[in-house]
Amino acid sequence: MSDLMTSTSTCLCGSVKITSDAINPNFTVCHCETCRTWGGGPFLAIQCGANVVIEGQDHVSEYASSAWASRGFCLKCGTHLFYKDKKSDAYNLPIGTFAELPNVNMDMQYFSDARPDYYCFSNETKHMTRLQIEEYLSSLE
Ligand SMILES: [Zn+2]
Ligand SMILES: [Zn+2]
Repeated sequence: MSDLMTSTSTCLCGSVKITSDAINPNFTVCHCETCRTWGGGPFLAIQCGANVVIEGQDHVSEYASSAWASRGFCLKCGTHLFYKDKKSDAYNLPIGTFAELPNVNMDMQYFSDARPDYYCFSNETKHMTRLQIEEYLSSLE
C-alpha cells in the first residue's frame, strides 16, 4: 500500500474546505451513469477515508444518490464536494478540488463498460465492468 497523504480540498467560492490525512495517492475513475450525470463527465475520485474534517458544514448539502451513498455539494457555488459511502462513512473527493496533489496515479476505472465512446483515457489502469463490480460486492456479503 502506498503512503497516505494529507491535503485540503476547496470549493470554488471557498466556503467549504475538507481536510484529510488519509489520502490514497492511487485515485479511481468512475464511468457510471450516476457519476457522469452528477459531474457532467467521469468522476475522478480521491479516496480520503472516513475521518475528514469539514470546514463550512453550513454550506454543505447532501443528496442521497443511491441506497448506499450520498453526494455533497456547496450550496453557494455548486462545487461537488464528495461522494460518501453510507456503510463505511468513507469519503471520495473530486480530484480537481485539490489545488496541489503531487505524485498521484490513476489506478482503477470503475464501470469501464458504461463509458461512452466519446472519450477515453490513455492512462494504463486496472478496469472493472459492472458485472465484475456486482460480483465483487456480492462476494462481500
Ligand atoms: Zn462553494
Ligand atoms: Zn459512478
